[in-house]
Amino acid sequence: MNKLFGNDINVTAHCERCGVACKVTGPQNSKAKMLRRSKEPKGLCVNCAVHDWLRNTYPVNVILAESGPKALVYPHVQKQFEEIMRAGMADAMPDEISWDLIIENWNLPFKHKIKSGGKNPYDQLELDEIKSGKRRGFGGPPNPYTVCHPPGPITSFEQLNELEPGLGDELKNCLGHTQ
Ligand SMILES: [Zn+2]
Repeated sequence: MNKLFGNDINVTAHCERCGVACKVTGPQNSKAKMLRRSKEPKGLCVNCAVHDWLRNTYPVNVILAESGPKALVYPHVQKQFEEIMRAGMADAMPDEISWDLIIENWNLPFKHKIKSGGKNPYDQLELDEIKSGKRRGFGGPPNPYTVCHPPGPITSFEQLNELEPGLGDELKNCLGHTQ
């Protein structure tokens, strides 16, 4: 019979994408707008969650679809991501992230497809076409998308700029200058 002892909940789960074992220790009342820890034994490990954030966040998803993950090896890009985690009140800690593993696992499939919406105008099909070279990433005007958005998870650099002026633009520039 399984038993939980007091508040010392320490369940182990496996990442639904890469299968690595994770401890489940979600904080109560997390205010995280990104990389939120799970309270239930399901979901993504921190590295897959970082990749999931990147692939769902415009325009980094388009930049990475065009260039692949190679820009992520640069310390200044990683440093910029730490700033974003801080602004997004992430539950995850920067030193938990292994960028090498993120890159190594880059082509593993995700269970959920990317949907356009909010501030991300690109869906899975369009991003796949950019990845395969069928479609140019920033070749044409972006799809129209709303300027207003409800508070919720961060899905664009514009939201990052609203959290902290220039933060999203800085990461965009960092990624752009390494190609
Ligand atoms: Zn994983």
